[in-house]
Amino acid sequence: MNIAENYQKIRNQIPEHVTIVLAAKTRTPEEVKEAICAGATDIGENYLQEAEQVIPALGKTAEKVRWHMIGDLQKNKINRALKVFDLVQTLSSFERAEALNQRAEKIIPVYVEINTGCEETKKGVDPDFEKVKDLVVKMAGLENISVEGLMTMGPMTGDPEDSRPYFRKAKAIFDKINELDLPGISLRTLSMGMSDSYWTAIEEGSNMIRLGRVVFGDRSY
Ligand SMILES: *Cc1c(COP(=O)(O)O)cnc(C)c1O
Repeated sequence: MNIAENYQKIRNQIPEHVTIVLAAKTRTPEEVKEAICAGATDIGENYLQEAEQVIPALGKTAEKVRWHMIGDLQKNKINRALKVFDLVQTLSSFERAEALNQRAEKIIPVYVEINTGCEETKKGVDPDFEKVKDLVVKMAGLENISVEGLMTMGPMTGDPEDSRPYFRKAKAIFDKINELDLPGISLRTLSMGMSDSYWTAIEEGSNMIRLGRVVFGDRSY
């Protein structure tokens, strides 16, 4: 199986309303290009430096897809990040959102990252409805930022069933925020599910999955 076949097979198996973001960390421009030529629409990078190498190497092909920041957005690299990314999935503090807002020259879509497992090693807002809602509301007041979704990783054990309660929690927060019908706030995207867990995530309401290994093969660091 090659990258194109892996991508198309999964694309055909999952519901149409679910977007696939290919997590391209450690992959070469050639590998990413193969995926884009197979129909990939969205590519995620964890490190700004990698995006800055891969995107120019792809030339015009890079313009066919949306580029997602799915790693930590460092404050001192925001200007550079704005040049290469179309959207940021990993905002979890108002301070970082303000910094992004200040530097953005056009509206940038963002998602709020929730640390659903409350893990010390992970970034994200605590999985507390009030905390997430308050951040979403505050961020919605920033003119260059458009809060369009929530993102979560959840603890990773390799068994997707272990992830289910965390996905369920993120979905509950997502729904509850939308049900409030707050002015200017409508979350469209719930980004959760990776190679081991995307089916479970879709069952629990994800409409954006982030896939690396199942499409590109195992990573060799
Ligand atoms: C690497 C990564 C993924 C994809 O992981 P796989 O297990 O390779 O599918 C998804 N989301 C984020 C934030 C990642 O860093």
